[in-house]
Amino acid sequence: MANSSNPPRKALIIGCGIAGPAAALFLKRAGIDSVIYEEDKHTDDYAGLFLNLARNGMHVLRELGLDERVRQEGIALHMMKMISGKGKLLGNVGQLSGEPQGYTIKRGILHKVLREEALRQGVSIEYGRKLKGIETNEPGRVKASFEDGTVVSGNFLVGCDGLHSRVRRIVMPTAPAPSYTGLINFGGFVQSSKIPYERGIQTMVFGKRAFFGYLVSNAEEVYWFGNMNFPGAPSRRDLQSIPQAEWRRTINSLYANDIAPLPEIVNSTKDEIGVFPIYDMPPLPEWHNKSVVLVGDAVHATSPSAGQGASLALEDALVLAKCIRDIPDVEVAFSEFQKLRRRRVERIVQYSRSIGQRKHATNPVQVFFRDLMLPLFLKSVNKDSHGWMYDYKLDWSEKTAL
Ligand SMILES: Cc1cc2nc3c(=O)[nH]c(=O)nc-3n(C[C@H](O)[C@H](O)[C@H](O)COP(=O)(O)OP(=O)(O)OC[C@H]3O[C@@H](n4cnc5c(N)ncnc54)[C@H](O)[C@@H]3O)c2cc1C
Repeated sequence: MANSSNPPRKALIIGCGIAGPAAALFLKRAGIDSVIYEEDKHTDDYAGLFLNLARNGMHVLRELGLDERVRQEGIALHMMKMISGKGKLLGNVGQLSGEPQGYTIKRGILHKVLREEALRQGVSIEYGRKLKGIETNEPGRVKASFEDGTVVSGNFLVGCDGLHSRVRRIVMPTAPAPSYTGLINFGGFVQSSKIPYERGIQTMVFGKRAFFGYLVSNAEEVYWFGNMNFPGAPSRRDLQSIPQAEWRRTINSLYANDIAPLPEIVNSTKDEIGVFPIYDMPPLPEWHNKSVVLVGDAVHATSPSAGQGASLALEDALVLAKCIRDIPDVEVAFSEFQKLRRRRVERIVQYSRSIGQRKHATNPVQVFFRDLMLPLFLKSVNKDSHGWMYDYKLDWSEKTAL
């Protein structure tokens, strides 16, 4: 076990998505050097669709001095306007004045902003390193081996390797597996000046057969996404193996009877339509084992309906580094990290799953009742304002009290 006379100095970080570079940056502030190991062979600034970085995630980026870049590159999201597939207004969530609920940004751009800052601050990122094994036999030391034969060692390892975390499967072999929500998410981008939009508003359509959301950037690029039921528990690869032409047919038919401009947006999408299965994580009994700790989606992946997964990964990175900075024994620091984070993230995972289910109706009777009940639900959402989720502020300078 590392103690005050032998403080941890080097972290191995697995995964360079959102949690990985953020953890490296906060650990650096805490005086700990990290190397990030990423399985992808190279960076791709166009990978993935887009995500909403909520106000609480923006607070963490502000602490890293990166919020301004996200403001410049993203679309400020103030309000969500909910309408039925027939065009009837069901309600609004949020308000046009004041601080936005968040910023919608292309995933690749957010990755780039975090990665570039990590590199600028001297963090090494090694690509093409797919984690294979972990050894924790020696207290205060950890060894990681990769599929290409490389072996590295450090004082502790942070698993930032996402939903299907290999780190989790190695160090917690009996931990529950990700749970499929029964829904898939699809979406894309369209360059068009013809789609009507109001600045700062994301339109959410509770269509007759499926849900659809879109918003438009200042450069008149439409960012759109939808959800539908999909059987089994598909992997991303399973969905990608279905030809694009088939996805287009399926998605077109889903929205064929909904108001304009839904079919037009789908039809005008020239580039690939991205398709993702939606999973979340059941609560894990432990988030750490010996010199290994999990953060972000690896430990508490949440479905995207609440738009919180990336923000929670950023919050984790800050809290973990603070615990390691303030608590000399690294395993005690991991326990404290788990204690400080568990309640909040589990509440959000639950909340997000419940909205995903509410969005969904598969037959006309369900559609009728959903559209009847939604205005009441949206009123209650507005009244609550979800300050507990969005206005959560972490303070790097505050000492972690044990
Ligand atoms: C369709 C969809 C929409 C979403 N929308 C939103 C949204 O609007 N708002 C929001 O906040 N969140 C959203 N999310 C969730 C958000 O993307 C995640 O919560 C966030 O990316 C978690 O960050 P992470 O760093 O923990 O994991 P990831 O971003 O998944 O990064 C994990 C990294 O680890 C690497 N890796 C994996 N295995 C290995 C290995 N064996 N060895 C080495 N490297 C490895 C991966 O290549 C990847 O780079 C959405 C998710 C999906 C699927």
